Amino acid sequence: MCPLGGRLLLGSGGRLTGRMVAHCLVVESADGLILVDTGLGTGDIADPGRLGRGFLTMVRPQLSLASTALHQLRALGHRPQDVRHIVLTHLDVDHAGGLADFPDARVHVLADELRAARARATRGERDRYRPVQWAHGPRWVEHGSGGESWYGFQAVRPLAEASSDLLLVPLPGHTRGHSGVAVRDGEGWLLHCGDAYFSHTDIDPGAGRRPPGLRAFQRMVAVDDRARLHNQERLRALRREHGAEVRLICAHDPDEFDRAAG
Ligand SMILES: [Zn+2]
Repeated sequence: MCPLGGRLLLGSGGRLTGRMVAHCLVVESADGLILVDTGLGTGDIADPGRLGRGFLTMVRPQLSLASTALHQLRALGHRPQDVRHIVLTHLDVDHAGGLADFPDARVHVLADELRAARARATRGERDRYRPVQWAHGPRWVEHGSGGESWYGFQAVRPLAEASSDLLLVPLPGHTRGHSGVAVRDGEGWLLHCGDAYFSHTDIDPGAGRRPPGLRAFQRMVAVDDRARLHNQERLRALRREHGAEVRLICAHDPDEFDRAAG
């Protein structure tokens, strides 16, 4: 398993500041590569305007081709068609941008998320979901949110044939169909929590001060803030009770990314 990262800089207007990353994973399976999230893609670098003014103003992404998942995988010696599956935590603009760089992949996502992204029912959802990123017509595979129990969470096994060691773990709140992705990692598991939290200090209260502005930012962009807070509480309990078996990372924490990248 290998972390891939793009750079996002959260900050404008003084309230939100600090470095952020877009943390993706690539998993080598018997059935080819599996990509967990896609970050920003080459299409976003070529045409930043497609990301929308709201995202560009608030996040100020550092756009670089070398940071895209496509270029990082090429640097590791892989071809785009080696990516057989993409598993998405959700379809926000900073997670779905690389979809078109891997047109042959099956794209796994919770059905609630795909429905929300297609409907774009609110102003916030019109900002966060950018249909131009999936205008090429990905090979969607939609999944329900029920299934099997995993450390007290309801999990779905999206890739029966490819890997029994990868699970979608629904964590709604940030978006309607937001999900974590659990990947077997040696004897334990790595749970990519997407945007269920933004800083390791959210799930490890003893880890120090939370970056300023992040609490308000998370609340502002959540579609269901009660569900988001409830799921953060469950993740804190998971870390507390099973931290030796399950390592948690989120999409945007630079410290977690630096630790994973070694
Ligand atoms: Zn995000």
